[in-house]
Amino acid sequence: MKIKVLGSSAVELPNANLTSFLVDDKILIDAGTIGAVLDEDRQWKIRHVLLSHSHLDHIKDLPFLADNISISRKKHSVSVYSSPEVNNALKKNIFNNVIWPDFTEIPSSDNPIIRLKNIKPGKPFTIDHYNITTYKVNHAVPAVSYLLEDRKGKRLIYIGDAGPSNTIWKSVVKKIHGLIIEASLPNRYKSMALETGHLTPELLASELNKMKHTPEMIFITHCKPGYRKKIKEELKKLNILNIRILKDGDELDI
Ligand SMILES: [Zn+2]
Ligand SMILES: [Zn+2]
Repeated sequence: MKIKVLGSSAVELPNANLTSFLVDDKILIDAGTIGAVLDEDRQWKIRHVLLSHSHLDHIKDLPFLADNISISRKKHSVSVYSSPEVNNALKKNIFNNVIWPDFTEIPSSDNPIIRLKNIKPGKPFTIDHYNITTYKVNHAVPAVSYLLEDRKGKRLIYIGDAGPSNTIWKSVVKKIHGLIIEASLPNRYKSMALETGHLTPELLASELNKMKHTPEMIFITHCKPGYRKKIKEELKKLNILNIRILKDGDELDI
């Protein structure tokens, strides 16, 4: 499984892109950054989008992807998977013909550019040859994480924004080859992290302790700007094996 990091930042700045990961060129996990990084041909290859939650830094470029498809007169649609809460929020607040055209009905309701698909946490589904399971995680708004397994049996867990969570760690018993997980804030902001549904390095270590097997590789995302160096130092002190903070543009192979 090849994963390209389109964006791994919690804020948008020159050279810091909002959260998006592209799996094997066709499945996008979160949609904070698309058009600033991918040329048109690569945008057309995206046919599935998995959204973790409704916060703008994770959905920002989805409306622009839809518009690009429409303007180019491409005929394909993009399936957007998330919880009903997220899909309802997209329909009500973004694709509402006020903020943006309703691409869930354009060019027609039978054949729209954006197809919103509700997932049910804990109930597996498939996209092409990937088996996908979602789990609820704790954040300020309803949020889910994703476990993707490809046909070679390689397993990736993606956790967008989330504070300490339990269901996922109890449910996932198989070995994980890659874990993308956040560490938004340094240890001294533990109470803020818990209030807002985020992790510090120490909270991250407690999450890893809940896992049956330590993942082969752990990739850290969503560091708040200005804290990246501190978070890196604090992670180093925890002596966790095979852990690294992601950079935009990284290509991961698990
Ligand atoms: Zn969030
Ligand atoms: Zn975020």
